[in-house]
Amino acid sequence: MRVVVDLARCQGYAQCAFLAPDTFRMQGEEALAFHSSPDDAQRDQVLRAAAACPVQAILVETSGPS
Ligand code: SF4
Repeated sequence: MRVVVDLARCQGYAQCAFLAPDTFRMQGEEALAFHSSPDDAQRDQVLRAAAACPVQAILVETSGPS
């Protein structure tokens, strides 16, 4: 799966880092670091994080049926 975060849109709410800490991590107060190709084992966490982002900054591309 592929993850893209629109950092121009991201407001550093850290919902994603809270819900999927293996994929998203806050660096300092507002900067977000993330894995662009997390393991499929992270899928549920990542999808939950994407859904929880208040500004819909997280785009997730999954391959195959869900
Ligand atoms: S939840 Fe959304 S706004 Fe918050 S840090 Fe993650 S990507 Fe940025």
